[in-house]
Amino acid sequence: MLHRVMPDRPMAFGRPSCYRLRGTALTPEEFDRLLEAGPFRSLDEVVEALSRGEPPPPGLVLTFDDGYREWVEYVALRLSEHRASATFFICPAFLQEASEAHPVDVFYWLLDHARRSRFELRLPDGTVAGGSLETDEGKTALITGSLKQFVVGGARGKVREVLARLAEVLLIEVPGALPRMLYPSERELETLRMSGHRLGGHGMRHRHLTKMSEEEVSTELSASVAWVARLSGGRAVPFAYPDGAFDLAVARRVERVGASCALTCVPGPLTRESGLFQLPREFVTPGHPLVVAG
Ligand SMILES: [Zn+2]
Repeated sequence: MLHRVMPDRPMAFGRPSCYRLRGTALTPEEFDRLLEAGPFRSLDEVVEALSRGEPPPPGLVLTFDDGYREWVEYVALRLSEHRASATFFICPAFLQEASEAHPVDVFYWLLDHARRSRFELRLPDGTVAGGSLETDEGKTALITGSLKQFVVGGARGKVREVLARLAEVLLIEVPGALPRMLYPSERELETLRMSGHRLGGHGMRHRHLTKMSEEEVSTELSASVAWVARLSGGRAVPFAYPDGAFDLAVARRVERVGASCALTCVPGPLTRESGLFQLPREFVTPGHPLVVAG
């Protein structure tokens, strides 16, 4: 499981970007080292083997989650040079056409471009969040602490309010063009598929499926699978649980809406016994052995 590939440039107050500190961005050099690992298999090869009750072919499957411009502008080129293909798990919340960027990307953008290094902010439940952007440790605490948890899981309207207040205290404005700066367009995602990669579902709004009502889960999943099927020319759609959040009821629903398989964020080897709707997956951070080796 990868997300972004981008240079490790210093951001506000000389600190690495939030993506880098969170482990969701590899540098182009690190990505090249990963591409030396191989052999790379397609997710389809693995799903077909498991469906026949056979062990999966040896090798690695590359997957990317969410949706970032460099997938089209950089990642796809490097993959084709290595004759490797990947599955891109996409979500309309990460689209150039979206009216606003996903809250986590807005949060990261604010911290990466802040003009004030220390702040405090009251959350709707009364707790005070805040910290310092002057050290890597301080910034890491902000992107893993209570404020980040609220941005990920809070009610959308309240999250929007808190992000607006955060922008004020950090003395910075979120650019209206942020979705265009960060995300690919639908057309570009189709281009990925036409150049030999696979597209998969990752929800409509990137909400945790385990925290939604049964009805909401069904609507969210059917819409996600239908959207990806349209961009994939009607092919069967694999699915990846947003933030890896799933339980047995959610897994059954994913199967019922017609997805071909579902990927978790539970690390470990994939075997003949791995359930098709609970496939293990490793988070490839800059510290992952496949990236560090060389
Ligand atoms: Zn995701």
